[in-house]
Amino acid sequence: MSLLSFFARRYIAGETRKDAIVAVKRLNGSGILATIDNLGENVKDAAETKESVKEYLGLLDEINEADVNSTISLKLTHLGLDISGELAEKNAGTIIERARTRKNFVRLDMEGSAFTQKTIDMAVRLHRLYPNVGVAVQSYLKRSASDVDLLIKEGVSVRLVKGAYKEPPEIAFEAKSDVDRNYEALMKKLLLDGVRPAVATHDEKLINEAIRFAEENNIPKDRFEFQMLLGIKRTLQKKLAKEGYTVRVYVPYGKDWLPYTLRRLGERKENFLFVVKNIFD
Ligand SMILES: Cc1cc2nc3c(=O)[nH]c(=O)nc-3n(C[C@H](O)[C@H](O)[C@H](O)COP(=O)(O)OP(=O)(O)OC[C@H]3O[C@@H](n4cnc5c(N)ncnc54)[C@H](O)[C@@H]3O)c2cc1C
Repeated sequence: MSLLSFFARRYIAGETRKDAIVAVKRLNGSGILATIDNLGENVKDAAETKESVKEYLGLLDEINEADVNSTISLKLTHLGLDISGELAEKNAGTIIERARTRKNFVRLDMEGSAFTQKTIDMAVRLHRLYPNVGVAVQSYLKRSASDVDLLIKEGVSVRLVKGAYKEPPEIAFEAKSDVDRNYEALMKKLLLDGVRPAVATHDEKLINEAIRFAEENNIPKDRFEFQMLLGIKRTLQKKLAKEGYTVRVYVPYGKDWLPYTLRRLGERKENFLFVVKNIFD
């Protein structure tokens, strides 16, 4: 566990929202914006979802009080999607409404494929009530081109990611080259027609292609943003911000850090090998 917490420390701001605010202040000092995520997912107890709502409301107040530049990100299963759609939507609505009064923005993270349709439907419904909500879409899913078309039509802002969950080959591209090719195609569609799309990747080939494509199509720098995760490619984050691009870093905090840390660990062979080597040393 101590080895895992060593990794967690790299990727996670700390256990409390005060820790998250400190991390955001540091990022803002380098000209980088943030989106704060309170870690938690697959909650099975309705009372626990109320605690999550309370935490997010407190977080929105604290972002205001500390006068830091940060939106928030959340997972619908943290708010009860595993219990009932109605509960999750009501909880999300409460948070988005508070964010609206604080002139802030809420991004719905995208989770495993059992929740994709429900998350897209909810994003569309919530966006019809509140303009300050957007959603993430995963390029490894074969369905994502049609989800992106729908979200563009509805005017919902998309954060494009490659995808972090294990999915079966019937619904997801298996080869990295196919995931990357789909990412590039969806990214270009969003850059041309999307509402303030977020190109969320650490893949420098795709980032350079986004820059080239935006220049070629006269898409101004303030029409889109780059997003990366806390602790990954910090030099690149600063370089892009210096060049005048909007860069937003995802800042997770909270006690429930294990699933998030394991996903980060699994993304890079070197991370995984480091842990295995140290376990067997
Ligand atoms: C802002 C943001 C929000 C996200 N939200 C979601 C979401 O809602 N749903 C979802 O399924 N996924 C989400 N993800 C995760 C995403 O799906 C990928 O799993 C993750 O970003 C790694 O893919 P990549 O695009 O960086 O490309 P990759 O091809 O995986 O990585 C490109 C390069 O980045 C570096 N890198 C990547 N990951 C790591 C790591 N863990 N540690 C160290 N270096 C690394 C390496 O140098 C690697 O060669 C999000 C990612 C970002 C940046």
